[in-house]
Amino acid sequence: MQGYNLDTNLPKQVAALGAKDMDTCMQCGNCASACPLSQGENTFPRKIYRYLQLGQKKELLSAPEPWLCYYCGDCNTDCPRGAEPAETMMAARRWLTTQYDWTGLATKFYADPKWEVGAFLAIFLFVVSLFAVFHGPIVTERVELNTFAPAHWVHIGDEIMIVIVMALLFSNGFNMYRKIMAGTKIPLSLYLQKAPVFIINYFTQKKWRKCGTGPGSAWWRHLFLFSGWVAMEVLVMIFLTSFQTDIIHPFWHPTRIVGYYATVALLVGSGSMLYSRWYKKKENLHRYSDFTDQFFLILIFVIALTGILVHFARLGGLPLTTYAIYVFHVAICVAMLMIMLPFGKLSHLLYRPTAIFLTTLKADVQKAAAIDAAQARDIIGDKFDSCMQCGTCTASCPKPVVSNFSPRQILRNISLNRATDVNVESAAWQCATCDSCVAACPRGIPIADVMNIVREKGQGAGLTPPQVTDALKSLKDEKNPWPGQQRDRQKNLQNIGIKNIEETDHYCLYSCCASLKSGEEHPNTKGLDSLTKILKKAEINFGSLGKNETCCGDLARVSGQSDLFKQQQGELENNFSGQKVITNSPHCLTNINNSTTIDNSVNHSTELLAQLIDQQQIIPTIELDYTVTYHDPCYLGRKNEIYDAPRKILNSIPSLKFKEMQRNKQNSLCCGGGGGGVFQTETTLENSGIRIQEAIDTGADTLVTTCPYCIQMFEECICTMNLEQKIQVKDIATLLFESLSDSKNTLSQVDPLQHLEKTDG
Ligand code: SF4
Ligand code: SF4
Ligand code: SF4
Ligand code: SF4
Repeated sequence: MQGYNLDTNLPKQVAALGAKDMDTCMQCGNCASACPLSQGENTFPRKIYRYLQLGQKKELLSAPEPWLCYYCGDCNTDCPRGAEPAETMMAARRWLTTQYDWTGLATKFYADPKWEVGAFLAIFLFVVSLFAVFHGPIVTERVELNTFAPAHWVHIGDEIMIVIVMALLFSNGFNMYRKIMAGTKIPLSLYLQKAPVFIINYFTQKKWRKCGTGPGSAWWRHLFLFSGWVAMEVLVMIFLTSFQTDIIHPFWHPTRIVGYYATVALLVGSGSMLYSRWYKKKENLHRYSDFTDQFFLILIFVIALTGILVHFARLGGLPLTTYAIYVFHVAICVAMLMIMLPFGKLSHLLYRPTAIFLTTLKADVQKAAAIDAAQARDIIGDKFDSCMQCGTCTASCPKPVVSNFSPRQILRNISLNRATDVNVESAAWQCATCDSCVAACPRGIPIADVMNIVREKGQGAGLTPPQVTDALKSLKDEKNPWPGQQRDRQKNLQNIGIKNIEETDHYCLYSCCASLKSGEEHPNTKGLDSLTKILKKAEINFGSLGKNETCCGDLARVSGQSDLFKQQQGELENNFSGQKVITNSPHCLTNINNSTTIDNSVNHSTELLAQLIDQQQIIPTIELDYTVTYHDPCYLGRKNEIYDAPRKILNSIPSLKFKEMQRNKQNSLCCGGGGGGVFQTETTLENSGIRIQEAIDTGADTLVTTCPYCIQMFEECICTMNLEQKIQVKDIATLLFESLSDSKNTLSQVDPLQHLEKTDG
């Protein structure tokens, strides 16, 4: 679904990998309460269900939670809807494995067993053919395995294979790291300090002990199997030349003891797991088995079996049998490692401890990022302490209607020094910086500023929503938070007919990034197009900064990225050259007028348009048969107190029926787009929906406003809710332009009005 940061294919993709009953989940959270491992910021499996149900692909990609689940199945038992959360977590792990893998092979292997088995056989046959071509002399009088396959050559082969496998696995692991840690800055010293977490969890899987209500036998069984695996790896990768000798060591020789232990652990571990998967299907753990789960265990079993058979054939003095089984054994080992370690089931060897390690690091950084009362007081001043917990802010905030957000609680948590990543740092991202609470607070506390401070403090702790992180990256790289390159901006400006500014121009028209990113049918593009044409009709001399026009940095400011904000503002300061600035965005207006570096005074386009109407430099003459209502954008109204100019424009249009919504001017209801909300419409659109309903309730067929963020939010919401037949959203400039010309649908065919006088505004 375009424009929503959602992927409607996500549930299907994960369902194909084994997720059951995703649709039956009602988000009650019983599973998360039942799960012995679900805690702190990393709660699951309810959260993962939500990502899947909403198609929140980015969130799922950056989620470590599926790797924190050890598949005990307790959550299945407690689900009132009979869903299978454990299976969904398993499917999510498979899906993540396919997403970390840059080669695309994991996707193919999980999607179709034929691919997995085919690739396995290809590598198996390749290794067999290497032995067929490069084997040493075949001694048949006695067993001389090292003559047939010299250990040092096999060792070199092992090392080549392991380098390839590790390069693939670690490059996929790096992808995992990038996704989970996006936006998180961890000092190197913390990585080193916390390295034991990775090592301990790698070797012991100790979290698994807490998992499940049973006696922990699954953990013991896995630990036994894993110890056999480690023992075998040590023998083969480090001590192969001592392990693979033609001397028959005495029974108590270390290589024999370790070899026997590894064989028993691998045989018993994989054999009993296979038995459970095949014959204990009633148990939560074994209800479902993907092909790859079984294939992997069968291969482990066969590897252990052929390994011990090589040994017994040697002891039995059977040269040809020894050589044949040896080739079979090595070929299976190589093929299994090549397929399963970077692309399949065995990749959890890296992914699980890595997820635990990274969540530990994040938790530490997030703890350090928690704001306390002293820090808030330092920045806000003594007013911060004047909060009397009256709750007026929460009552006036648009967010609690659609979520459990409460500015009062955030202030309380900070003042009691109990801010956490969940109750303050993450929660603050719900604030739309609309200032409704600020206007209502009897103590005059600048609550929206508190939210910005919280976000600033939390920077680098990985709490910034992924969509905002992407937009900030784009702002940094392309000077524009929306996808697209800076050089396209000039092209878009030219398409709209805004020329580069010249010395003789009176005005610099500064356009919001949001109105330059959409297609020509989008109401934002039409709004800027109409504004341009009205100014041309009025024979106003104006131009844009052209290729030097960059974002005002609104997102950087509300994200607490003060350095990036200053950088953006600095660029604008260098590029403005004395002309009066008019902008179509209340956000640009606010940011530039409040900037410490720019001294141009900026006006909003509605102020200029109202003035042109006052001075009769433009005269709306065409009757418009619309019933409209006007939405006061928070940044134009409450932040800049511009209420009259847009109403003057609407009242100047002949025949237009203008009805106020109940919540208007200072009491206007936020659309949810400010404070970074416009970049996260999958979670912020509900506020727009409420506002659109208020507009419909007035009997209006057209919702008029004059902020590119509001327009973007309303347009997306109208499309999502299929309300196109009930209401449309228009930029006020579009409406005004329609009343100036009879070319309602042909905005490009405009003739200058000859009777208007030139003006400098
Ligand atoms: S217990 Fe079941 S219904 Fe409730 S959130 Fe978990 S999966 Fe969904
Ligand atoms: S399977 Fe066990 S560890 Fe995994 S989510 Fe369910 S209860 Fe938690
Ligand atoms: S309205 Fe002001 S005084 Fe009341 S709880 Fe909110 S911040 Fe505190
Ligand atoms: S600024 Fe707006 S969204 Fe943020 S806490 Fe205040 S009322 Fe709520």
